[in-house]
Amino acid sequence: MESAVFGALDLIGAASIMREGMTILLKANLLSANPPERAVCTHPAIVTAVIHWLKQFSPARIVLSDSTASISVGSTEKVLKVSGLKETCEREGAEAIPIEKMERTIYTVPDPLVLKSFPSATLIGEADLIINLPKIKTHNLTILTCCIKNMFGTIILGQKPKTHVQFPLVRDFEKALVDIYSVSKPQLTVVDGYLCQEGYGPSAGDIVKLDLVLAGFDGVALDTVVANITGVPVNRLYYLEYAEQKGLGTAKLDGIEVRGESIEAVKHAFKLPKGSTIGYYPVPLPRSLARRLGPALMKATITFDPKRCRRCGTCWKNCPVQAITPPASLAEGNVPSWNRNKCITCYCCAETCPYEAVRLNANIAKNFFTTWPGLSCVATLVAIIVVIALLAYFLL
Ligand code: SF4
Ligand code: SF4
Repeated sequence: MESAVFGALDLIGAASIMREGMTILLKANLLSANPPERAVCTHPAIVTAVIHWLKQFSPARIVLSDSTASISVGSTEKVLKVSGLKETCEREGAEAIPIEKMERTIYTVPDPLVLKSFPSATLIGEADLIINLPKIKTHNLTILTCCIKNMFGTIILGQKPKTHVQFPLVRDFEKALVDIYSVSKPQLTVVDGYLCQEGYGPSAGDIVKLDLVLAGFDGVALDTVVANITGVPVNRLYYLEYAEQKGLGTAKLDGIEVRGESIEAVKHAFKLPKGSTIGYYPVPLPRSLARRLGPALMKATITFDPKRCRRCGTCWKNCPVQAITPPASLAEGNVPSWNRNKCITCYCCAETCPYEAVRLNANIAKNFFTTWPGLSCVATLVAIIVVIALLAYFLL
């Protein structure tokens, strides 16, 4: 791993941005409490290699941080422990601190797309260098999670569900991701493509041993390259388009210089998440109509696997809109209840369930014919056809 990380950083000439005595923030992926072999969090071998590379430049301080998908107090600390990253940092003389445990600052987003401000660690603004350490995974909501999506973890725990509630449409949520990225923009990124997740990611997917490390200064370009390697349709990653428009990087493959192995040589088509959305604007619609129709069409049906569910409460504690309620009895075989009307399809329950017991299925056709926006469309269409038929009958 060390030779892969050192090799990737040497290929891009990363030493050019280093100087002695820097305070360095490593933004890992600490989504949920899973061991390294489950491919949920940034792998300790990648973090170890990056720290070893950094030590050549005698940094004053190396801090590894993130906030988990869960809002429970102490959850990031638990992830640090279970993922092996706390032990890695202790061994390597780095600090491992949850973002929510640091001094906070409210950051104002310059020229925001949708998000005007957000709270995060003061260190985001004060670090000499931020290094993003995302993992390649498919994602139920954003299809791919890598460089841009990983920086969502820089906002404080409780603000994550609030952001989902504030921006229930995928496109708006992706604009919020870009706004966050524009403030906490890392100067350097090392992508963990060693053990990845495909299909039902980012926490309950199948593991892909891609055995790849990518490094770059431009996270937008890296996401574009990763999408091309994994076969994720780039035109469905709206955040790349928004990030490029905002001047945060390049999302056009033609404009990206790839050094080392070619994309063709390392291509591996990932299974896409089954419930993945198509952006909530399936056809060009007026924005006001899309806002109403999109969430209804893309709503996922959520079920709980009674064989896996241990009634731990993580899902109902983390649902941002209280759409999940505990069973009347915590006896084995009982599962939580889900309220379809309250659910905003944010996928937080699936992301945070420690036992991979949450299943989501978005059936667009069924949603269309069973929700009032779809039925209203059908009724409107029928009314138009009837009017045209009557006009034709009486006028012709
Ligand atoms: S579905 Fe998962 S998170 Fe929810 S109670 Fe069951 S085991 Fe816990
Ligand atoms: S039920 Fe799950 S997907 Fe629906 S709002 Fe709650 S956490 Fe999000």
